[in-house]
Amino acid sequence: MANIVDLHTHSTASDGLYSPTKLLQQAHEVGLKVLALTDHDSTQGIEEASAAAGELGIELIPGIELNTDVGGGEIHVLGYFLEYQRPEFQAILKVLRDARERRGERMVELLNEEGIAISWERVRELAQGSVGRPHVAKALMEVGYVQSIAEAFDKYIGKGCPAYVPRYKLSPEDAVRLINSANGLAVMAHPIGLPGLDKLREWLPGLQKAGMVGLETYYGPYTHKDEQALLSLAKQYNLIPTGGTDFHGPGIHPTALGGRFVPIEAVERLKALAAKRHGVTPPSFELPPPAEEH
Ligand SMILES: [Zn+2]
Ligand SMILES: [Zn+2]
Repeated sequence: MANIVDLHTHSTASDGLYSPTKLLQQAHEVGLKVLALTDHDSTQGIEEASAAAGELGIELIPGIELNTDVGGGEIHVLGYFLEYQRPEFQAILKVLRDARERRGERMVELLNEEGIAISWERVRELAQGSVGRPHVAKALMEVGYVQSIAEAFDKYIGKGCPAYVPRYKLSPEDAVRLINSANGLAVMAHPIGLPGLDKLREWLPGLQKAGMVGLETYYGPYTHKDEQALLSLAKQYNLIPTGGTDFHGPGIHPTALGGRFVPIEAVERLKALAAKRHGVTPPSFELPPPAEEH
C-alpha cells in the first residue's frame, strides 16, 4: 500500500525544483493524502499549495523549515500548522530570506573569481523566487561546468568547496520561539544527519524547554536502527515522532516524494496540539541582530 503522509517537502518558494502546484500534483500521483510544505524561511508557496491541495483532495499542512547554527554544526527546525499570515512572523521571515539571497549572490561572485562565467541574473531567473544552492547548481549545469546538481555541490558549492558560503542562521531555540510566535509546532528535522545523535542528546532538553514538540523520526533514508534510537528519545522527552522525505525535486535527495512511511498518528497528535494553540495570542519574538557572515 502506498504511503499517505509526507511532512517534509520543498517547492520553488525555497530551493525545491517543483512549483507548489506541481508538487501537489506529484503528491496526488503517488497517493499522498496529507502533505506538509516546509520551505526554507518561506511560507510563500502555501497559498498556491493549499489551492492545489483542495482540488486534489489532499490535506495541506502549512509548514516551514528554519536552519539554525550550533557552533560549527547545524540544526534544522520544522514548523507545522503555522498561523503564517501573522504580519510580525512574515516580517522576520523576510529578513531571513534577504540574508539567503545575499548568500546566493556571494556564491556567484566567488564562482566568477574562479573563472566560472555564470551570472546572478540567470540564477535569479532559474529560481523564480527564493534563491537556493540548487539554482546556482542549475546555472552551472546549463553552461556545462558540471553534468549534474550533485556534481555542482561536490565540486563548487558544497561545504568546504571554493564557492561555499555559510548562511545567516538563528539559534535553534530562537527558531523554536519564532515558530511559536505564529502558534506553530516546532519539530527537529533529520536529527541523525544534523546535528547527530550525541549532539542531539545535548540539545534536546533545552529545545524542549523552549517549546519544541516533535522529533523527525521517519526521515527519508533513515534505517530501522536510526528510527528506533529516535523513537526512544522521542518517548523519553515526550516529543511527537514525525517524518517525511525532504523532497526537493528529482535528483537532489535520495528519497522520492511519499517514499517513506510516516504514521498518520503523527498528524493526529500535531493536530491535537495545534487545536489548543490556534486563535490564542502567541508569545512574541524578536530577531536577534545578524551574525557576521564569514
Ligand atoms: Zn533540513
Ligand atoms: Zn528540508
